[in-house]
Amino acid sequence: DRSKRPDYLAGLNPEQTEAVETLDGPVLVLAGAGTGKTRVLTTRIAHILSTGRAYPSQILAVTFTNKAAREMKERIGVLVGHAVEGMPWLGTFHSIGVKLLRRHAELVGLRSDFTILDTDDVVRLIKQLIQAEGLDDKRWPAKQFAGMIDTWKNKGLDPSQIPEGDARAFANGKGRELYAAYQNRLLTLNACDFGDLLLHPIRMFRANPDVLKDYHDKFRYILVDEYQDTNTAQYMWLRLLAQRPQGSRNRPSSGLPATLSPSDGEKGQAARSPSPISPSERGEGRGGGQSAVNLCCVGDDDQSIYGWRGAEVDNILRFEKDFPGAKVIKLERNYRSTEHILGAASHLIAHNEGRLGKTLFTDRSNQDDEKVHVHAAWDSEEEARAIGEEIEQLQRAEHNLNDMAILVRASFQMREFEDRFVTLGLNYRVIGGPRFYERLEIRDAMAYFRLVCQPADDLAFERIINTPKRGLGESTVRTLHDYARTRDIPMLAAASEIIETDELKPKARKALFDVVTDFRRWQTLLETTPHTELAEKILDESGYTAMWQADKSAEAPGRLENLKELIRSMETFESMRGFLEHVALVMDAEQNEDMDAVSIMTLHSAKGLEFDTVFLPGWEEGLFPHQRSLDEGGRAGLEEERRLAYVGITRAKHRCHIWFVSNRRIHGLWQSTMPSRFLDELPIDHVEVAEQEVSFGGYNRGGYGQSRFDKADPFENSYQTPGWKRAQQHRSDATRDNWGTRSGHAVERIGYGESGPRTRTIEGE
Ligand code: ATP
Ligand code: MG
Repeated sequence: DRSKRPDYLAGLNPEQTEAVETLDGPVLVLAGAGTGKTRVLTTRIAHILSTGRAYPSQILAVTFTNKAAREMKERIGVLVGHAVEGMPWLGTFHSIGVKLLRRHAELVGLRSDFTILDTDDVVRLIKQLIQAEGLDDKRWPAKQFAGMIDTWKNKGLDPSQIPEGDARAFANGKGRELYAAYQNRLLTLNACDFGDLLLHPIRMFRANPDVLKDYHDKFRYILVDEYQDTNTAQYMWLRLLAQRPQGSRNRPSSGLPATLSPSDGEKGQAARSPSPISPSERGEGRGGGQSAVNLCCVGDDDQSIYGWRGAEVDNILRFEKDFPGAKVIKLERNYRSTEHILGAASHLIAHNEGRLGKTLFTDRSNQDDEKVHVHAAWDSEEEARAIGEEIEQLQRAEHNLNDMAILVRASFQMREFEDRFVTLGLNYRVIGGPRFYERLEIRDAMAYFRLVCQPADDLAFERIINTPKRGLGESTVRTLHDYARTRDIPMLAAASEIIETDELKPKARKALFDVVTDFRRWQTLLETTPHTELAEKILDESGYTAMWQADKSAEAPGRLENLKELIRSMETFESMRGFLEHVALVMDAEQNEDMDAVSIMTLHSAKGLEFDTVFLPGWEEGLFPHQRSLDEGGRAGLEEERRLAYVGITRAKHRCHIWFVSNRRIHGLWQSTMPSRFLDELPIDHVEVAEQEVSFGGYNRGGYGQSRFDKADPFENSYQTPGWKRAQQHRSDATRDNWGTRSGHAVERIGYGESGPRTRTIEGE
């Protein structure tokens, strides 16, 4: 009887309803983007609570980000009709892992106030261990070993379980020993790394069946979103909690493959390593009787985008074997996007071989829906300008900024948009990382520049006086501070006076003398030297660049890259002062949750989200697909990049704008680029290639100011060899000299290669 059904069930389609109401036994919802998987999970929790089947504290629900967890909690409150008290076990794998570990720390040899180390700390610690072994840490970089440990931990491997080949490959065969030493050292320090947040609970549950049983009794329902991106360790953790011994019932072995997963074989040694999952955990034990908890996982194999971080898409493909009797529900109706957007995304992803293949349809369509737009721009500056214009136009047509997002492949792409939006006075927010000018190395560098331009800037002075280390520690700074305060002068002025006295010890006095001399020199250069040149000089002569070059931490290369991007971003300004003013404005731009603002984020962190309008810039070979994925992953790498493109397009509800540029500057060198192969893979019926609509900013670039595509038919021969590629190629050839001369740089050929943007952002947790 429909009329008696609770409100929260109204409006669900039959398959969704089934997924919500099938509360007993394992359920897998395997479905494409925007079909309501997350909505099903949320409604399912509401249903469990409203029907009184469990208390909030008896539900374990895993989301991919903390933000998603917060949103889900709110949504459940709305569905149930009152605020939901508790839900303490709704969170990411990591946040739930921390909680478990704080409760049972002593069972794995920690105290409950253990600290969680970040990547920098981990690398430093490993470096110490490598040196303590008497090994050369240049030959055996700590950073590399940190990566190996991370990979092992994602696979759930303890030191005794790592593949022989891996152990041999590092540090003259000391890999295993080092890993073990690292784990011991962490325990001594009462610390753990991110991987341990999953591995310690696994160890703890295995060693303490009684504790595990408590949790079996506790968690009546387990739900997991984005199941396609779980890694092996997360999978093991889930299996431990989701499967409980049932004693008497006898069931034949579940017939799982002997190795962890078929794909392990491709990754070299892994298949030969001892399986970290014991037979009984697989339901293969002699008694064989295991029953699964009321587990509901939802996911989409086409959206598996964290393979590089150890995610195993096989986990989702194997669900029915893992949880016998599982009900698999498919959802085919997409509620998010128009037919054009869905058509474009489906056609693109069909180029992947390794997929299940799904049908998707939508009725969110009408006559005047826009096709997916493809635009070309000269360079990333023009790209940002044009996207800014498009956003302002939408704004004038009463669209909210909150409904728009710019999704980039690599985080360095964000800077151009941030700069542009500040100039336009457009509110924006960066999701999943600091804004460009907020990064540590950028703030340091800016402090140098500020102090050169504004010698009275004491905050800048204090920030860099001992960065890099010059032996000007706290006591010197205090003396300087007092000296400046009593005379009411800025600290830099105080410094140039105090070096004439003997208030400081000779060593500090000499060091301070050098700094003061440097700043005097830079100040005189301010009027005579081009400001970008001066900026580079300051960073070099101060030893700041050298400090990061000498730093072997995992972050250092990225920081050096950002410093280069900083210098590059100064070029568009007349002077250093003009640039500083601009940045002050950027930094002043508000970032609060309530304001109407465009979101800027990486494709990786956009998973699960949706926006009315989505901008996808930078669709060029080398950037997207990213060169490193191709180099390291081969075909699998390319397919993961394509899934990322699929995720990007399917975030859009109504409008999707894809951009590529003909020239990108990497490390001060112009590189002419090729449009991404993914553009060739879009279906002609759903795509519209924009005709010339972008201004050239008043700059004459060789008389090519009209259409950049073959106007007649951009897909002339077929969509496989679009006219834009030829037109584009022609343009870059013809204009190269002109541009090259103007900027004074050579134009390099296609692609990013070694010098390309190698930063891979880690998002999602
Ligand atoms: P993704 O794969 O991108 O994570 P998803 O499958 O989790 O997508 P949801 O985010 O749950 O999809 O839903 C997509 C959109 O469709 C949301 O705006 C959601 O509210 C809406 N939606 C889902 N089911 C229905 C329905 N039965 N009726 C109306 N709208 C729906
Ligand atoms: Mg979702």
